[in-house]
Amino acid sequence: GSTIGIVGGGQLGRMLAMAAARLGYRIAVLEPQAGCPAAQVANRQIVAAYDDPAGLAELAAISDVITYEFENVPVEAAETLAGRVPVLPPPRALEVSQDRLSEKQFLNGIGIDTAPFLAVDSDADLASALHSFGGNGVLKTRRMGYDGKGQRVFRHMESGNYSGVFEAMGSVPLILEGLISFECEISVIGARGADGRVATYAPARNVHRDGILHTSTVPAAVPDITADVARAAAASILEALGYVGVIGVEFFVLDDGSVLVNEIAPRVHNSGHWTEAACVISQFEQHVRAIAGLPLGDTRHHSACVMENLIGDDVARVPELVAEPDVLVHLYGKAEARPGRKMGHFTRLTGRN
Ligand code: ATP
Ligand code: MG
Ligand code: MG
Repeated sequence: GSTIGIVGGGQLGRMLAMAAARLGYRIAVLEPQAGCPAAQVANRQIVAAYDDPAGLAELAAISDVITYEFENVPVEAAETLAGRVPVLPPPRALEVSQDRLSEKQFLNGIGIDTAPFLAVDSDADLASALHSFGGNGVLKTRRMGYDGKGQRVFRHMESGNYSGVFEAMGSVPLILEGLISFECEISVIGARGADGRVATYAPARNVHRDGILHTSTVPAAVPDITADVARAAAASILEALGYVGVIGVEFFVLDDGSVLVNEIAPRVHNSGHWTEAACVISQFEQHVRAIAGLPLGDTRHHSACVMENLIGDDVARVPELVAEPDVLVHLYGKAEARPGRKMGHFTRLTGRN
């Protein structure tokens, strides 16, 4: 049978591997950490850094198609692989989404609204950017941030002394975004097949705790027009990137029902885990279908639901959760429950459609 190569061995790779196995594919994972979540269910792990030439060559040699499960795969590594075997989603999707500045410029360039933003490369840049945003903003590292790490919120700071902030943020390129007072946050999981067909799941309403996704609820309880506009935005992003695979698109919903895109993730997404319980075809199978050239699956959900992440010691809840009807528990095979670490999630079905 065919082999799918996955760069990255975390829980997203694990769930992709499980879906791929069910469709008869073999899985090879490139991941430096031995015994990682994905390797536990894959046929083969190549233990090497994501940019290790020998590891990349080995992955390319045994894979019929290669994908990735995190957005910080070095673009050069993805391009090296793409010179030997199809890499999907296309490396350009990595390039655009790895830097919050190029991401927003890309989105605005295809007519999709975001928070206002300014590049910040010094304390003086920060002072003038904050001034032009009326004293409120979210300062973020342009690259590598996740789970709200590398962010700092400023309120009512029209003027002030920002000396040392650039250094405290790591002396790396930063972006100041306008502070959006949103009604709620939603996300859309979308997919584009090899044939160019696009399918999107219903939006989920997302609540974060300590910067980490806490719950995703479907239906999102937003106006129909809001849901439609968000799904259409996800579709135009997929088309503009010539994308093949699953994407996650995060939105802020404003008081008037309009949306801004917060960020995009060129991969399966935590806020789409609910699809494994409430849809016949999960986001994981959808991604495998897309990159393997199979037809996309139906994205309708048969039930309303709430997905909740199990972070750190939350795993202690598993015995009671598995005793509940209509709850699907999914653990990632991580031995140690460190604070802030995603250990698993569960989805509770809350009513049939
Ligand atoms: P993820 O784990 O989703 O990749 P991340 O580290 O990339 O997280 P963001 O999604 O940019 O971070 O921000 C995390 C959360 O912080 C958002 O979901 C939102 O709740 C809040 N936030 C981010 N940017 C803004 C903004 N410009 N205005 C208001 N709130 C914001
Ligand atoms: Mg992010
Ligand atoms: Mg986010």
